[in-house]
Amino acid sequence: MKVVRRHIPELDVELERLEAGPVTVTCIPDMANVAWPAKAIFPGLSRSDLESAAKRSPAGTVDPEGETVGLSFNCYVIQTPDYVALIDGGIGNDKERPDRPAWHRRQTRFLDILAAIGVSPEDVGIVINTHLHADHVGWNTRREGEVWRPTFPNARYVVSADELTHWTALHEADPEGQTLHGAFADSVLPIIESVGFETVAPDAEVATGLRLQPAPGHSPGMVVVSLATGEGEVLFLADAVHHQLQLGDDSIVCKFCEDPEQARKTRLGLLANAAAGNTVLAPYHFPAPVFGRLKAEGASFRFHPLDFAEAGEPAN
Ligand SMILES: [Zn+2]
Repeated sequence: MKVVRRHIPELDVELERLEAGPVTVTCIPDMANVAWPAKAIFPGLSRSDLESAAKRSPAGTVDPEGETVGLSFNCYVIQTPDYVALIDGGIGNDKERPDRPAWHRRQTRFLDILAAIGVSPEDVGIVINTHLHADHVGWNTRREGEVWRPTFPNARYVVSADELTHWTALHEADPEGQTLHGAFADSVLPIIESVGFETVAPDAEVATGLRLQPAPGHSPGMVVVSLATGEGEVLFLADAVHHQLQLGDDSIVCKFCEDPEQARKTRLGLLANAAAGNTVLAPYHFPAPVFGRLKAEGASFRFHPLDFAEAGEPAN
């Protein structure tokens, strides 16, 4: 496998693309490397915790002075000879998120970036929501006038049955309650009411070589996604890990995990398997470089980004 970096000047974006024979995986961050207040995601971390985390994390991803951590929101586009799939859907445009200012009424060029890699919304055959949090479902829909419509009209929208059942029950108990900061109403319900979700078991094979794996804890029905290529496995980590600093200290749990102890167990199991199996990881929230492998170091892990090849010709 190799990773190619491609700069698209007209969109002011640099994309990383993993190539494995006829299969490519392109990372499109819906938000890239935002300095997030550390306490807003890892409330237990003191200033000195952040100082030691900065020493074992990639340069620039932890700022102990400003008490921030770098977070991206990475959507992944898989292109194979048989299908185009999108793993997770970012924050989306035009969404009303008054209690999440960074996500409120965004205007990004996500669809232009998709077009630049040769993919139209109609080409996407599979959308997988690893879980239904607001920062993973945004591009499920786009606004047309006052109506939210599926962004990818020909796609199978795939979600684990447990996850959809959980959030649907919360929404139905309080329909005006802004479930998922409003994302249930504008990014989940419009799919249910139009093309429908394909609800599956948490270990379902979605397409040849593309399989879900249960990863509960952060959200009740969260899954990670495994892609088998002729050159090895790629694992889309969703929110099993939020930041590199967690690789060195398994007690650091994100504030948004529903069941922190289960989330910790899920994370350790996935990381140990990925290190043992030489799996290439595609993390949702790590800033670039995103594709890498893990090495176990005692009780912790270190993330080693894959080397970059020379910039290739444009991907089409
Ligand atoms: Zn989440």
